[in-house]
Amino acid sequence: MVHIFTPGKFNTNTWLIDAVFKDLEGKKIRFGNSAYLIRTNDGHNCLINPATQSGARSIFNALKKLGGWPLEKIIITHSHWDHTQGVIFFRDKVEKELGNPIEIYASEKAIPYLRDQSYNTCFVAEERYAMKLPNLEGIIPIKDEGIIEIGKNFSLKIIETPGHMIDHISIYDEKNNSMFVGDTIGMSWFPDFFICNANSAFWNKSEYLESIKKIQSFNLDYLCIAHFGVFTERNIADFINGSVETYYKWMELFKQNENYLDNPSYIRDILWQNIYKEFSKVETLKDTILNSVINAIHYYRGLVLI
Ligand SMILES: [Zn+2]
Repeated sequence: MVHIFTPGKFNTNTWLIDAVFKDLEGKKIRFGNSAYLIRTNDGHNCLINPATQSGARSIFNALKKLGGWPLEKIIITHSHWDHTQGVIFFRDKVEKELGNPIEIYASEKAIPYLRDQSYNTCFVAEERYAMKLPNLEGIIPIKDEGIIEIGKNFSLKIIETPGHMIDHISIYDEKNNSMFVGDTIGMSWFPDFFICNANSAFWNKSEYLESIKKIQSFNLDYLCIAHFGVFTERNIADFINGSVETYYKWMELFKQNENYLDNPSYIRDILWQNIYKEFSKVETLKDTILNSVINAIHYYRGLVLI
């Protein structure tokens, strides 16, 4: 098994959970957004990424089934809305059911972005949701190389991995040689299908490449991404290489078609014909990449949409 796409337990302490996304029409999209439950041998529960508000409900149902409730801790990889807004749901649930607060952690650099989530309007297609995103207070700031104790003899280490977003962290579980890297490297909605990671004006290429080097130095057994699933064995390197190559291919095609950048659908079609030939039968994927194309064009032009 090299790419784990099915929700469930994949090592001694970790479960992949499908934090179901909703599209702009409110239709449920399975396997769009991952959350991870870490359960220690002495029964303490920590969640990596609480997803959107509606996604949090799917996570909650899964946690109940898995015996992963109540949650004591949540760690957020970065301040993008699709990994933050579930905090509201879980705070409410834990406080109502148990009467004690849940500990929520994020990078110290994420605190201002969590306090003002309106910057998420940089995600063009999601704008009408982003406008209504509640801000988040009371998050515990953590630093690079910080340690979070989860249970007896079980802790997680914070590794700063910026690039995708200024405040991005990855979370290292030494016991299982497993790392939760959020969106640091990129997305994989479909095997061997890579999308350019430059999806907002906050994206930074040199930090992205540095963070990837940092992750590679761990020689991981499990690389856990936010959209979607877990890579093991040789698929870790394949995924990393695929993501980096795709970035350069997109930028090259933008350069060759600079006169058409005002027409993202046209650019998307060019990308589709050049890079995604083997997916020509999966037309839905073609629709899916349009938003990423729009955002990558904004990045390419150096526009800041806030
Ligand atoms: Zn993100």
